Amino acid sequence: MAKGILIYAQTDRNDFLQNVVLELANTAQDLSKKLDNCEVSAILFTDGTNLEENKNILSKNGFDKVYIANSKDLKQYSIEYYSKIVVDLIKNIEPEIFLIGATTQGRELAPIVATTLNTGLTADCTNLDINEKGQLASTRPTFGGNLMATILCKNYPQMATVRPKVLKKTETSIIKNTIFEEISFDLSTVDKKVEFIEFLPNKQLSDVRIDEAEIIVAGGKGMKNKEGFKLLEELAKLLGGSVGASRGAVDMKLADSSVQIGQTGKTVVPKIYIACGISGAIQHTVGMSSSEKIIAINKDKNAPIFKVADVGIIGDVFEILPELIKKLKG
Ligand SMILES: Cc1cc2nc3c(=O)[nH]c(=O)nc-3n(C[C@H](O)[C@H](O)[C@H](O)COP(=O)(O)OP(=O)(O)OC[C@H]3O[C@@H](n4cnc5c(N)ncnc54)[C@H](O)[C@@H]3O)c2cc1C
Repeated sequence: MAKGILIYAQTDRNDFLQNVVLELANTAQDLSKKLDNCEVSAILFTDGTNLEENKNILSKNGFDKVYIANSKDLKQYSIEYYSKIVVDLIKNIEPEIFLIGATTQGRELAPIVATTLNTGLTADCTNLDINEKGQLASTRPTFGGNLMATILCKNYPQMATVRPKVLKKTETSIIKNTIFEEISFDLSTVDKKVEFIEFLPNKQLSDVRIDEAEIIVAGGKGMKNKEGFKLLEELAKLLGGSVGASRGAVDMKLADSSVQIGQTGKTVVPKIYIACGISGAIQHTVGMSSSEKIIAINKDKNAPIFKVADVGIIGDVFEILPELIKKLKG
């Protein structure tokens, strides 16, 4: 019988653990309680950089055990290497549940692991629970965000990916006497088809990363042209925030797809989200409606964005934004 919950402990390019790992860890504690306090473990890839710090963070976030794949060959993420090691570990420890952050990397790794293990995967979940039969109940939006579906998986491990910032990270530490185990692996038979050449960062429109920004100034088709987006950049800079975009604006080439917010873009939960010239289609609001305060500027009083906004300004962005910028400049 499969048992325990395994989490993919993804790190970033500087070997820092991604927040989504801690969000998953927090939820895994609740799931574990409903599964006879089963073990919560993680798989961590490293070349040794920042390892001690990461171990410290993991043991303060409720992990009973951490499996460490440590090699200089694992410095750069490689789908062939990482999926082989994950699959071998899962075959070995047979977890009941395997959770991964729905990051770009997680979205590649999860389906490959699921198909190799011939199990099911629920992608982009917004909630995870255990049902009365002890199965993982993974909830995610479907039919363009109009319905929420709760999906069960027949095979093991039951797999799910969850978008960053959707689950809450606890502020209190859940300190465990974590067991750290370096795992051995043999990559000599792996046919590595992709070689890392160079890292090119996303074309951000502002200095602050959109997934970390506390204030986001987002623009839609109503911003009309590059000059319109320059106003958003100026406002974001004055507020110490970041610029985001609707898919409408990305399709018009006003912004890079890396800053698109919504169903096929990023999910953001800033303190303040200022939506400028965005109609508020469900595919957009699904990625920003959990923001703490939403301010919407739109010239159409019936625009759906006003249904999710805390503050609605009916008017022309080309009149309101320059005024706002002038005021902030003092
Ligand atoms: C499968 C699928 C996935 C999708 N994924 C995403 C996604 O991830 N993110 C996303 O954003 N969309 C997504 N979409 C597209 C989505 O359905 C909408 O088409 C898109 O969000 C519309 O972008 P918009 O609000 O910029 O444009 P529009 O809907 O054209 O709205 C423009 C708004 O600007 C206002 N406006 C115009 N001029 C001014 C002015 N001068 N001052 C003030 N207001 C003005 C208008 O009143 C209007 O409300 C997806 C669609 C599908 C089918």
